[in-house]
Amino acid sequence: MEPVLAVHGGAGRWRRLEEGERERVFKALRDAVEGGLRAVASGGAVDAVVEAVRVLEDSGLFDAGVGSVYSISGRVQMDAGVMDGKTGRAGAVAAVEGVRNPIVLARRVMEETEHVLIAGEGAAELARAWGLAAPLTLFYNDGKNKRFEDMKREAAAGGWHYKKVLEVAKALGLGDTVGAVALDRDGNVAAATSTGGVWLKLDGRVGDSPIPGAGYWAENGVGAFSATGVGEYILLSLPSFRAAQLVKSGTAIDVAVREAVAYVTERFGPDTIGLLGIDSRGNIAAEFNTAGMARAWGRGREVKRAAIGGEDWP
Ligand code: ASP
Repeated sequence: MEPVLAVHGGAGRWRRLEEGERERVFKALRDAVEGGLRAVASGGAVDAVVEAVRVLEDSGLFDAGVGSVYSISGRVQMDAGVMDGKTGRAGAVAAVEGVRNPIVLARRVMEETEHVLIAGEGAAELARAWGLAAPLTLFYNDGKNKRFEDMKREAAAGGWHYKKVLEVAKALGLGDTVGAVALDRDGNVAAATSTGGVWLKLDGRVGDSPIPGAGYWAENGVGAFSATGVGEYILLSLPSFRAAQLVKSGTAIDVAVREAVAYVTERFGPDTIGLLGIDSRGNIAAEFNTAGMARAWGRGREVKRAAIGGEDWP
């Protein structure tokens, strides 16, 4: 069977893109699909999703890797997770600082330790030991600094409360988390998700992205999933696992993804989630209850289609 890969660049603000940003986002999504397909041509599904997410982390256009947003105290703490559908193993890092590609670190946690999730300083220490550390200055730039000041002002105007912070974050651009799902030629699936979390989060806050079943899930014979949106709601509804269970009981991938998103909408309202999925035959689907969800996919060696809004996709 031909390898299939799909990526997303988060659910949320994508309707309000600045001049030229749309093209840059599309290019990054396509580059990620291309990189993932190249990796899977000589490797497996895990290689594909890690490479695709690595490209998105390095683009600086999304809330992941060098593009990650700031916490309330101006720190950059990232979460990432990967799951191998063949082995059922997962690896993840949470609230980690000074790591250029958290998804690469997450993969090494999966493959070189007996743990699933390593947080904070312990994860940063591993990154240093494995040569994956990066200077903290890499994660700061003028654009993000300005946005940070604006967000703090807006949050203060609304009263300093996390709920307000989340509302501000949603309005100004929650949801540029990145993720990938893939099927390789041997029928193995994998999923990966990486994020800087949400603007102005408390230091040490961990979202859904490094938690299996919440931010991602992969199971051979079933499928692979990657979620984006308000981490707190995703943690409380496990959409990736939920969609996998639906596929397992015979539901088509598009319906499964839609139902998992509908469940989150019912419980927590709109503007809360986007979910990308692939089944074990290579059918893909994405569903979101936000203005948009940046996404793209490809098969074999060909990058197929990128989309942002509600247009027909795949
Ligand atoms: N789910 C991520 C988090 O809450 C944010 C996002 O998807 O943009 O950390």
